[in-house]
Amino acid sequence: MSVSLDLTNSETRAKLDAMKPTDGTKPSLVGLSREQMADALRAEGIAEKQIKMRVSQIWHWLYIRGISDFANMKNLSKDFRAMLEEKFDVSRPKIIEEQISNDGTRKWLMQFPSLGAGKPVEVETVYIPEEGRGTLCISSQVGCTLTCTFCHTGTQKLVRNLTAGEILAQLLVARDRLGDFPHADTPQGAIVPAEGRKVSNIVMMGMGEPLYNFDNVKQALLIASDGDGLSLSKRRITLSTSGVVPFIPRTGEEIGVMLAISLHAVNDELRDELVPINKKYPLKELLDACRNYPNLSNARRITFEYVMLKGVNDSLSDAKELVRLLKGIPAKINLIPFNPWPGSRYECSDWDQIEKFADFINANGYASPIRKTRGDDILAACGQLKSESERLKKTDRLALEAMMIAGHGE
Ligand code: SAH
Ligand code: SF4
Repeated sequence: MSVSLDLTNSETRAKLDAMKPTDGTKPSLVGLSREQMADALRAEGIAEKQIKMRVSQIWHWLYIRGISDFANMKNLSKDFRAMLEEKFDVSRPKIIEEQISNDGTRKWLMQFPSLGAGKPVEVETVYIPEEGRGTLCISSQVGCTLTCTFCHTGTQKLVRNLTAGEILAQLLVARDRLGDFPHADTPQGAIVPAEGRKVSNIVMMGMGEPLYNFDNVKQALLIASDGDGLSLSKRRITLSTSGVVPFIPRTGEEIGVMLAISLHAVNDELRDELVPINKKYPLKELLDACRNYPNLSNARRITFEYVMLKGVNDSLSDAKELVRLLKGIPAKINLIPFNPWPGSRYECSDWDQIEKFADFINANGYASPIRKTRGDDILAACGQLKSESERLKKTDRLALEAMMIAGHGE
């Protein structure tokens, strides 16, 4: 082995060691890029001429077949499987709880290792079936560094960023549980249909600010949209941000997914209060970044989320200003009825006020779906999730606020 290869190997080992959860579990291959997976195999002494083929075999088992056990990777030799088993992990996170609502909405509470001192973390992921599509709402962080005043997650400190593997694991678990992966015995080379999937869309609208965990979110979404794997169309992936302006162009250029902006106010004074990151990146900068978002068109519009807070941001003059502000940006507006949580200082706008607001923006040419409340009986709505899991499980500081979504993507 040459000296330079040795060097690469020790670097790779150091990187892999850094990823190793401190509870002694093996590093996961889920969430690695092809290059990282190649490095990991190289570091275990796999011959250079085999690396590319090995990576593509493992990739196929992980992301097309949804296999979570090396023993089921049938076209790999026994020895190779044994080595993988000894050194790496491809298992799913522990599912602590699964709830299914009368309307088909599902909610999972998953556990991930602490990645340091402290307890394992728990994250909730929500699946919302709708006519013609099914949307999975995924988290990017446990807690959030930001403090939006109407958001329950904003009352919790950031516990940690989720890794690319953990972000992706939420999708893999949902597909397992919904029967979206082909059976392990499906013959190799069989065409796995993209149509008829239960999870047709994903939204980064769970807990956390995805653009404050950019690298991991980027890697997870590139794997989710990889054509030789999970193959979700980038038009069916929406990333929601409170407005981390410097990362907006990079989201378009490097990830290429659809963008949603948590706008919620039409002037800086109110937005400074509701979405405090506005003090750093005020409306003008935010809207300029939106205007310049790559590949915008009428078929690829930005979604502006607007939470309806009674007497705060729901007047017709707010609606008028909203229309004026968004002029020239291919946009749709998603009105979200506020979900109150214990101790929240706002009320949801009255229904007829929400309708009047929606009618006004509709009349001015914007699609403005009002987000439906779904999964009421399992408390799968913004703000509700957390409070209930507190009562039931007392682990709730780490639980995710899942966001209901309607009207995103294709
Ligand atoms: N941090 C990102 C993504 C997660 S929040 C962001 O802020 O965009 C997903 C959406 O739900 C955001 O638009 C957020 O503002 C909204 N939201 C948060 N708490 C809510 C509540 N209690 N009621 C209604 N919408 C809420
Ligand atoms: Fe964080 Fe988004 Fe909640 Fe604001 S709305 S506190 S950015 S999760």
